[in-house]
Amino acid sequence: MIDELKQHEPFRRSVRAWLHDNLPSDWQSLMRGASEEEHHAFQKLWFTKMREGGFVAPHWPKAWGGGGMSFAEQIVLYEELARAGAPRLVVYFISLHHVPATLLEWGTEAQRARHLPAILTGDEIWCQGFSEPNAGSDLAALRTKAVREGDHYIVNGQKIWSSHAQHARYCLLLARTDQTAPKHKGISYFILDLETPGVTRKPIKQLTGGTHFSELFFDDVRIPAENLVGGEHNGWAVAQATLASERGLTALEFAERMGVAFGLLLADAKAPTSAGKRLIDDDEIRRLLVGIHTRIMALRVLINEMLTRVLNHQGTGTEPSIIKVYHSELLRDFTSLGVRMGGVHAQYVGEVLMGGGYESGYWMHDYLYSWACTIAGGSNEIQRNIIAERALGLPREPKLALA
Ligand SMILES: Cc1cc2nc3c(=O)[nH]c(=O)nc-3n(C[C@H](O)[C@H](O)[C@H](O)COP(=O)(O)OP(=O)(O)OC[C@H]3O[C@@H](n4cnc5c(N)ncnc54)[C@H](O)[C@@H]3O)c2cc1C
Repeated sequence: MIDELKQHEPFRRSVRAWLHDNLPSDWQSLMRGASEEEHHAFQKLWFTKMREGGFVAPHWPKAWGGGGMSFAEQIVLYEELARAGAPRLVVYFISLHHVPATLLEWGTEAQRARHLPAILTGDEIWCQGFSEPNAGSDLAALRTKAVREGDHYIVNGQKIWSSHAQHARYCLLLARTDQTAPKHKGISYFILDLETPGVTRKPIKQLTGGTHFSELFFDDVRIPAENLVGGEHNGWAVAQATLASERGLTALEFAERMGVAFGLLLADAKAPTSAGKRLIDDDEIRRLLVGIHTRIMALRVLINEMLTRVLNHQGTGTEPSIIKVYHSELLRDFTSLGVRMGGVHAQYVGEVLMGGGYESGYWMHDYLYSWACTIAGGSNEIQRNIIAERALGLPREPKLALA
């Protein structure tokens, strides 16, 4: 355990006790095969319970209804949620993380007052409209256009991969407001009400069968000028606040959850099958289990090092990129082992809406979804570029020495 966390043992015990009293037992089984409406209703129920417990927005300032918790307390909370296997508030992720990070740094007082309390009711779901068909890794190449006309902006264009957009009311939108400026300098940041005429949402069906994200089309959509965030043509700077909030404590939570899921897989391996054999007696399975266990331990060490640096106000450097590559590739290999050990039954993708990450109860679903983790939040290739340039000082475009 990180030394700085020891003084928070009483808080840890109180979170554990709260989870013991409030966590719906066997919620994963209830969600298997659930309809989208049922999944949303359950997310809302858990959101409300977490809010009553004081845990839904631990990182928000108290003045805005949050927990005002220290970083150390947040680490303890997320460790306990993960260890208890509590549901992740996937539908509210952007509402709880990206929106406050952006509005608290760049929003007007009126924008904060309108939206932050509304998010905490659990009724206001947000999505992020950044990526476009030809602007993902190179986000600044985006082409959705916003033209000022009186006290409105008129928006035309398209977004893609917008998580939970089909259920969202509001969207954090990037659009080009200056066609002539260098590409990073002609972008503005808006709050878009998705019920405005001219907005069309088209859910995208994924490999897993789910529809986690949507395309968004804008046809002469009118956004009031008061919904501009951080000033005209300043969207690139505002977007950095949004993107920074993606990192948060997600890695810690994922590593803890993977540790729990590994324990279950190991228990399965030790249990006799219907044929009276045990998977653990297979040399190859033993070798793979040891490999995954070792890598989960290494991931925890990497994360603890990063968290210790943050607790000591030393910044993070390139650790988030290293952890992202390491975690997503480990998740892929771990879920692949689950599929292999589960045999023919584990080939079934299942009907689950829970998003990714070894919690659906269907190994094939989680394996297929694990590939998304190598792309979301900046692909692994982009992370490797960051590690190469910033951690190792390698040249951007190495010149090949020709003999
Ligand atoms: C689960 C999930 C959720 C998402 N949610 C959202 C959301 O809510 N809102 C939103 O706006 N977007 C969202 N995205 C989109 C995500 O941000 C983009 O998919 C990501 O930035 C990659 O962009 P792209 O898909 O356009 O791929 P591209 O940028 O076209 O990349 C294609 C391939 O080329 C590689 N590549 C590109 N440039 C380089 C380079 N310079 N060097 C080396 N390799 C390179 C990439 O690694 C990739 O393998 C989500 C994606 C996923 C998977």
